[in-house]
Formats: sequence, structure tokens, C-alpha cells
Amino acid sequence: MLGPVTTGRPTRARSHRHPRSRAIRVLLALVAAAAVLGVAVVAVPMLRPAGPRPLFQMPVTCGETWQLSTYPGHDDYDVDFFPTEGETWGRPVLASYAGTVTVAGINGSLGGRNPENPDGPRGRGGGYWVKIDHGGKWETQYLHMLEPPLVTVGQKVAQGDQIGRLGSTGNSGAPHLHYEQRRGWEKVETHFDGAPSGITTDEREQILRRVSNNCPAVS
Ligand SMILES: [Zn+2]
Repeated sequence: MLGPVTTGRPTRARSHRHPRSRAIRVLLALVAAAAVLGVAVVAVPMLRPAGPRPLFQMPVTCGETWQLSTYPGHDDYDVDFFPTEGETWGRPVLASYAGTVTVAGINGSLGGRNPENPDGPRGRGGGYWVKIDHGGKWETQYLHMLEPPLVTVGQKVAQGDQIGRLGSTGNSGAPHLHYEQRRGWEKVETHFDGAPSGITTDEREQILRRVSNNCPAVS
């Protein structure tokens, strides 16, 4: 059976669209305006530039020498901290700078590695971890801690406050502290005591040594 003969003119006449169009156009305009407003509310703070870099210190005890390292497949700018002497397990993990704790919990799964069972089952992700918001869009994060963090979400910390103990929870081969500094959503090269760490790529293994100047303020 043949269909209707086409004439080249649109089969839907204007008059069919017309009655509903006004209300729908108004509605669409309102939806669009709401969407633009929503995007603006979310996007405008994101577009605001970051504040100046805080004077971060190493996340470990004042005066101690630590190894800062990375390896292929880590991630650019990520730093693994290992002490150069003494017991690694349980070493204090310190806030790099004053701020507010935004995460204190478990990332991924803990696994079963601890001082009594260092080669226990490996977990996933960061294990026990903490994230601190330092204001001005600057953040630091601290992974693989031994035990639940010593701080809670919303808590204000000062530079040098202990936030946890070094461990090997999550996806960790050996006890160490995995550490990152972020500006906005970007990871950036870590700086300590006003100087860059030099760890900018994970294309090759790198092992540096540095002394912590995360020392109590002199009053
Ligand atoms: Zn790491």
C-alpha cells in the first residue's frame, strides 16, 4: 500500500505546533536559566584563582632526615616518605601546614599489613588516610597510615600536629607515607620549607634526602 504523496512541503502545519509553543518556550527558558545559575554557582568558585602557596613543611618530625622517593607508575608529583634511620612502623605523621581536616578514614581497603605481619595481604587504594584543606584551594593528603587517623573530619589542626602513625594499609608494598600537595584539583610539585622537592615526574625512579623543618613554633 502506498503512503501519502509527498509534496516537498512539511507535513506538519505551523498551526499544529503553535498552541503549545508559548508555554513550553517559557518553561524551557526557566529550565535553561536555572541550569545557567546552577553552573555559575558551582563554576564561579572553581574559577577563582588559588591563594599563595602555604609554607608547607615535611609531614614528619622536626630535625629528622627522610628519604623522598618516587618510581615509574607512581604518579607525577607523588612522594613516598621513608625514614633513613630507626623503626619505620608507627612513626608520627604530621600536618604539613595548619588547616581543617576534610577526610579522615579509609580509602579502598585496609589489607592486613602491620608490624606483626608486614607481608600480610595487600589492600587497595590509600588505606587509612587524611586530607587537610589549608584554604586558598590548597590541600595535602597522607596515605597508608597504620591505624585510624588521630584526627576527625572538621577538626582544625596546626602545622606539626600529629594526624596519624606511619603504616602500610591499602595498596602499599612496605611501610611508608604517601604524600601529595594539591592546588585546586591539580596535583603540584611538593614544596617544603619554601623550596621545591624536585620530584616532578614518575618517569624514572628518584630518591632524594631531606631534613624536616616541621618544628614547633618558637614563641
Ligand atoms: Zn606512594
